[in-house]
Amino acid sequence: MKDELNLLKKDKAKLKELQYLVEVEEWIAQEYEANYERLRLEGGHALTPEIKRQGLLQIIMYFRKMREVAETVTETEVKLTLPEQLSPRGNKFTIEGVVDIIREKDTTTMYDVKTHDADYVKANQEDYLDQLNVYTHIWQNLRNEKLNGTAIIATQFPRSLKKAIDADDEEKLQRELEKWDPVIPIAFSQDKVETTINKFACVVDKIESREFKPPSIDILLERIKGTRQRFATRVCRNCDARFSCDAYREYSQKSSAYSGGFAEYISDLGNTDEVENFTNTNAFETPPPTNIDDLI
Ligand code: SF4
Repeated sequence: MKDELNLLKKDKAKLKELQYLVEVEEWIAQEYEANYERLRLEGGHALTPEIKRQGLLQIIMYFRKMREVAETVTETEVKLTLPEQLSPRGNKFTIEGVVDIIREKDTTTMYDVKTHDADYVKANQEDYLDQLNVYTHIWQNLRNEKLNGTAIIATQFPRSLKKAIDADDEEKLQRELEKWDPVIPIAFSQDKVETTINKFACVVDKIESREFKPPSIDILLERIKGTRQRFATRVCRNCDARFSCDAYREYSQKSSAYSGGFAEYISDLGNTDEVENFTNTNAFETPPPTNIDDLI
């Protein structure tokens, strides 16, 4: 009888846990939808149903994997501001960032959530380190708070996990979730903060002086660490300025991908997925109102 009671208790606890998970995931979906609608109305940009679904999946998988962090986070979306900075050419600027903070007993950890993949973050740690060091500087010196660690959370899940989701294979999904490690601790240091702030300052000066010279073609041809893609493919093909960019034009003229000449170059609207997404988004969008009263 005692054993049966224990079993019943365990089943009840399991049921409660499942109910909790269902409720949280439903809440995430509702908030995601509301947030998306708000951003769509504010920014005028829409997502295709597939991209939207993938965005929601990324958040749900993040919750399943990082539940402990998500539940213990003490401050979310903490805005860090470094105001009144002066560039070498006398331009005033402010650095701002948003992070999540977890305080546990005697330790405080700062997390910066990125929609990048973990392999890319690991291979390009120095890019993230600079940014985290500035946030750490603001946290420790301007807010006078202590910090024990910093980390990036890379929410883009690996291809193998995506395959398990698409295959709707619960066992495989669990295995892949266990293998996935989206938290990349990054040891912060305050040695290079001034140099990093100075780098930001030089960029501000260039923007204010309208200096927008693109990098050389050598940079466009370089493979980006942690990926098999060149700069031109990963960055330039997503850049709205590419058709008026000398470096990209030069790259295109040398690239075998544009053997069709100028016509092919100018009609390249991105990779097939992007073009399909763009077409679908517009196809799924509500048609413009035909009655003036609908606009009022
Ligand atoms: S295409 Fe855009 S991202 Fe690429 S080099 Fe030119 S300006 Fe930079």
